[in-house]
Amino acid sequence: MFALINELRVSKLQKQDILTQMENELEVSHILLAWYKTNKRMLPWRESSDPYIIWISEIILQQTRVAQGMDYFYRFTERFPDVASLAAAEEDEVLKYWQGLGYYSRARNLHAAAKSIMDRFGGVFPGEYKEILSLKGIGEYTAAAIVSFVWNKPYPVVDGNVYRVLSRLYAVDTPIDSTQGKKQFAELAALVMNPKYAGTHNQAVMEFGALQCVPQNPDCEVCPLKERCMAYASGNVQAFPVKQNKTKTRPRYFHYLYIIYKRQTWLSRRGKKDIWEGLYEFPLIETAEPMDFAGLQQTEAYRKLFDGAGRMNVSVDMSEVKHVLSHQVLYTTFYRVEIEKVTDALNSYLAVPYEDIERYAVPRLVHIYLEKLNGNLSE
Ligand code: SF4
Repeated sequence: MFALINELRVSKLQKQDILTQMENELEVSHILLAWYKTNKRMLPWRESSDPYIIWISEIILQQTRVAQGMDYFYRFTERFPDVASLAAAEEDEVLKYWQGLGYYSRARNLHAAAKSIMDRFGGVFPGEYKEILSLKGIGEYTAAAIVSFVWNKPYPVVDGNVYRVLSRLYAVDTPIDSTQGKKQFAELAALVMNPKYAGTHNQAVMEFGALQCVPQNPDCEVCPLKERCMAYASGNVQAFPVKQNKTKTRPRYFHYLYIIYKRQTWLSRRGKKDIWEGLYEFPLIETAEPMDFAGLQQTEAYRKLFDGAGRMNVSVDMSEVKHVLSHQVLYTTFYRVEIEKVTDALNSYLAVPYEDIERYAVPRLVHIYLEKLNGNLSE
């Protein structure tokens, strides 16, 4: 690299500036690597150099924090230890193993990508950045993580942690969610990276962001980069990173009906073009506004569903549960409804013995309710 600088058609002074800057960045990388050596967490996927394992762990960690992700990782990789086993599985089973992590499209993409690796690469995980990037559900971040962690290829990773560390270190106030910001931070990440230790460097910055340069109140006094940190020098750490758009969220009002008739209940499978495609749930009535039970009873959907049900015993099991998704906030009430007769409308749902519900992949929200039900049953 230093030889390349000599080739540049710039003045001696400019070359010196560039070299000084690069030496500074290498020094930053050096500090991060030293910090990582003593502070990194021992995580199962860090012991592995199998691209499949790295891939699965990265996708799981996009969904959840390390502590929560660990169980999912073990469960998923125990059942699907390699590309072939994942590709051969039924989609329903893959979703079931993903249950609770949310963003089920990611599980579907994992499944599709595994099939594609079988078809296009003979079952061998591809080793080139562009090939990996061509797989469904794999973006620049994941492709860079895989090639750098496994093969030490010099592709910088830029995730939320990296944005935070770099924006503070260099006091960059370009919004990280702007096109210009994305480009600028990718360049900065490449500049700071020591290509000789690309994989370890990438892991070091991410871990540094997760443990040291945390979003709220980082302990800058003990930070090994504090002498170089421009945000710290200006006393303005919390101002970074800068974002331009706060994500708009839309409220939705769900009323789930856990209908009971002789230890049997009913489920339905969610369709396309909405959240939780392909997952199962109790009969659902969605209203445009918040609504109590008296209001719900007046809706056409409720009347249709229970027309001919005979004597009914209705109770609220969980009310106004707030469930936040990336662009939506769901306010949900779970009703338990015991009926005397099976209605015609229920024929369009799937009748399921209560003890079999566990077999179906359900959204996290429904899962929380089932856990509560199971808790009550075993008390
Ligand atoms: S000094 Fe504070 S803000 Fe700067 S890198 Fe260290 S922890 Fe982050």
